Amino acid sequence: MSNTGRGILTIVSGFAGSGKGTVMKKLTAEHDNYALSVSATSRKPRPGEKEGISYFFKTREEFEEMIRQDALLEYAEYVGNYYGTPKDFVFSRMDEGRDVILEIELQGAMQIKKKYPDTLLIFLTPPSARELYARLKGRGTETDEVIAKRMKRAAEEALSIKDYDYLVINDSIDECTRRVHEIIQSAHHAVHHEAEFIERIRTELADMKIRNSITG
Ligand code: 5GP
Repeated sequence: MSNTGRGILTIVSGFAGSGKGTVMKKLTAEHDNYALSVSATSRKPRPGEKEGISYFFKTREEFEEMIRQDALLEYAEYVGNYYGTPKDFVFSRMDEGRDVILEIELQGAMQIKKKYPDTLLIFLTPPSARELYARLKGRGTETDEVIAKRMKRAAEEALSIKDYDYLVINDSIDECTRRVHEIIQSAHHAVHHEAEFIERIRTELADMKIRNSITG
């Protein structure tokens, strides 16, 4: 997956309540080159969520069928529900040269990084645990029990932040979106994404050496 012309694959993870959904929406609204992958999940839709936009909502049986068909790039169980990334979408958009962003949790991120080491991993966090709790509570869409589960899960996830490439603290949506954009755009200049340029300049230099030796 390290070829020039192809888009960059970026994974953005963060605690539930880190604001990553909002940041991703802003990023894709402001820049044309991003394609945000739509995941499949066995979780029930929240009020306002739309099929094929928020997620592809599946029953557990349908999801397990997708696993059997090898239709997912990765999948994980998170707080009792399946979540997974449909393969086709990601590869076809990257082939078109678009930078694909997956907003997925940690286990899925690690599965992909192992298979495709060039993947860029960004972790988003609110400035403090207190702020995280306030955001989850303020969202008003989950029961206290689910919020408690998500806080516990956040404590576990915090142990793995070190496996990511970049950490972005989300204290302001605008600033956070700008930083994520800069990180992804910088990745285009990583040498493994510049293979075509490197090949061209090597050829040019080799060619010049020949001509120099002719002209003395
Ligand atoms: P939520 O239920 O709040 O929409 O998402 C719960 C968690 O699942 C979030 O951390 C989200 O990033 C993650 N998630 C969403 N889609 C996927 C996916 O396709 N694969 C994996 N591994 N995690 C996902």
